[in-house]
Amino acid sequence: MKKPYEKPFIHRSRGGVANKFGGLAHTRVMPAVEGIPVAELVEKYGSPLFVFSEKVIRAKHAELIQAFSRRYPKVQHAWSYKTNYLKGICRTMHCLGSWAEVVSAMEYEMALNNGVAPARIVFNGPYKPYDILKRALQDGAMVNMDSMDELYDAERIAADMGQKAAMGLRVNMGLGSHAAWDRFGFNLDDGSAMQALKRALAGGKIRIIGLHAHIGTFILDPDLYRRQVTKLIQLCRTIQDEFGLNMEYLDIGGGFASRNRLKGTYLSTADMAPAFEAYAEAVCDPILNGFAVQDLPLLLLESGRAMIDEAGSLITTVAAVKRLTGGLRGVVLDAGVNLLFTAFWYDHEVFPTVERGRSPVEHVLYGPLCMQIDVIREQIKLPHLEKGDQVVIRPVGAYNNTQWLQFIHLRPNVVMIGENGTAAVIRKAESVEYLQEQECLPPWLE
Ligand SMILES: *Cc1c(COP(=O)(O)O)cnc(C)c1O
Repeated sequence: MKKPYEKPFIHRSRGGVANKFGGLAHTRVMPAVEGIPVAELVEKYGSPLFVFSEKVIRAKHAELIQAFSRRYPKVQHAWSYKTNYLKGICRTMHCLGSWAEVVSAMEYEMALNNGVAPARIVFNGPYKPYDILKRALQDGAMVNMDSMDELYDAERIAADMGQKAAMGLRVNMGLGSHAAWDRFGFNLDDGSAMQALKRALAGGKIRIIGLHAHIGTFILDPDLYRRQVTKLIQLCRTIQDEFGLNMEYLDIGGGFASRNRLKGTYLSTADMAPAFEAYAEAVCDPILNGFAVQDLPLLLLESGRAMIDEAGSLITTVAAVKRLTGGLRGVVLDAGVNLLFTAFWYDHEVFPTVERGRSPVEHVLYGPLCMQIDVIREQIKLPHLEKGDQVVIRPVGAYNNTQWLQFIHLRPNVVMIGENGTAAVIRKAESVEYLQEQECLPPWLE
């Protein structure tokens, strides 16, 4: 076959171009995912295609648990369902020992369907309709109270049950420079948290057994967690002093960063995201030193993003290439922001799957939608891409399979590659029939 014309290009002997920090910015080619050739995956399952690696999930899980349990004796992870609630993903997490963390009636039901015992479901979120709150409290789930109105509902439910209901108290707090997430739970700094606690105890219907705080997401500075747990420990002391109560658990929420690159940042992703070790050190030391040995609370972790992001890849195919007026090569891919919601925040890595010469050129990567904002990468140096080429976009495991849109195109297959190297579908590609199953016509159009 005749090779396509390539502009002359002078290479350094090491290849690639050093970035500002001295790292090499050359393009790596990714011909296979977890040992299976991309072409084979596409032939069998179509394009676009989400691919998850069981091996990576297991490795990340082990890394998290080891980092924390080496420093603290009572550690439990609860898998954040909204990060990725595909059954195959949740059940992999549960097999590895994770509980479930849910924020809606829908997710609560999903966790039950996945066989999670209610006592191992952490139920958070600002909106818990009466019926599901009642069910969760009756089931004995770990419900973290978000507002006074939720407290009043819980008191009615406890009165109906004829016994006290156990709940955790969700708090939020200022952490210096970091923009505080202040809309969830009760503010700790202005006294609202203590006020809510007093009110709950005075009502005589609710037992407060734990504290919860989720300080944000993609937190790059582990020290914020040190400040968070220091404040939580302080609150525990006050509660102990004033009411003689010991908290059974401290839930520090999620928020650890994944190895993805936030838009507009320079550092390579691997250099930016702290290791679980760094978060663990910030969290565990203060807790271990803050309580008497017999009073050590269970430490709950709700890490979502950092656990699953790197396990997910998106294989997509070049549908067309055009030269834009600015001289850039515009590439239309068969997957866009409809499948990759996180493209609004991240500059994902993009790997060609075949060698196409060595001179990278500037590309814009568009999705297939009829909207100008459907852009996967605004500018990226890649070898000449041609129609029909595949590229692998990653990491994409967090939040895309829950926030994806059914817009203009149907959602594609999702497969998982098991530790044994075999692939299996974990969500089938959608069809128009599936999509319209819930639709009805008014009688006058029948
Ligand atoms: C979303 C969420 C998580 C997971 O957050 P990540 O940033 O993905 O780790 C954990 N806990 C609560 C309460 C959440 O809302």
